[in-house]
Amino acid sequence: MSVPKINITLKRGSVWLAGAGPGDPGLLTLHAVNGLHQADIIVYDALVSKEILKLANPSAALEFAGKRGGKPSPKQVDISLRLIHLARKNKRVLRLKGGDPFVFGRGGEEATALYDAGIPFRIIPGITSGIGGLAYAGIPLTHRDTNHAVTLVTGHDAVGGISTIDWASISKSAPVIVIYMAIKHLESIVNSLLSAGRKHDEPMAIVSNASLPNQFVLETSLGSCMQDSQNSRVKAPSIVVIGPVVNFRNMLNWLSEVPKPIGEVETLADFKTKQVG
Ligand code: SAH
Repeated sequence: MSVPKINITLKRGSVWLAGAGPGDPGLLTLHAVNGLHQADIIVYDALVSKEILKLANPSAALEFAGKRGGKPSPKQVDISLRLIHLARKNKRVLRLKGGDPFVFGRGGEEATALYDAGIPFRIIPGITSGIGGLAYAGIPLTHRDTNHAVTLVTGHDAVGGISTIDWASISKSAPVIVIYMAIKHLESIVNSLLSAGRKHDEPMAIVSNASLPNQFVLETSLGSCMQDSQNSRVKAPSIVVIGPVVNFRNMLNWLSEVPKPIGEVETLADFKTKQVG
């Protein structure tokens, strides 16, 4: 059986706004791969993995639109203007973003700018890290035995602080809370959740570089995460999950041969070494 052929043309003068998933190229959609093959120019973010960019048409120009080497990231409005400019130059433009473009990805801002400019566009959803990334750590987002709801929240507001986020309400919103961009303000987020009544011994996991060869998972609890994460290889990008679903990792951690006790770590690279060696 061959991979189904998608006969949708990325037309000159238009933009496809696509999600690239959390990193593993196997998590791309067929539409995104089709866009990578057809685009004249691919405007990509920092979270789009190199392996994914290798799938681009060799003649396509690759333009980085993220934060690099401590330099400030390009302003959102400049990225939108760039997309409009490229489309008006009659290019076939693929705007590629990590995860899903409409989940904490500012895809809505870019799409509305294209709409305002009268540029034809298509949205290609991607697997968001808060779902697919957790699946790679063996953590289901919901389970009938534990939760009927889940909250996805960003760890910082539009101006980079946590002040406008109502953590007390969030703490009561659902048994499972998934936090994007949480690492910078982890301590104050955890303190806010604890003061709002969430328990110290609540299971928590931090998944760094989910689905990439250097995936790293820290299993901890809300009360010990600050200490545990300091002595670990937690680093950006990381997704945080709090709630009883983390315990399923004991059974569902399909990247590991043996269940690991709380606090122990592993990487996808270790797993691959074990497989080939
Ligand atoms: N649109 C993206 C989210 C962009 S915000 C999505 O749908 O996934 C950036 C945040 O996403 C990061 O700070 C981190 O919390 C999360 N993230 C993205 N890719 C990740 C990955 N491979 N592993 C862990 N977290 C990731």
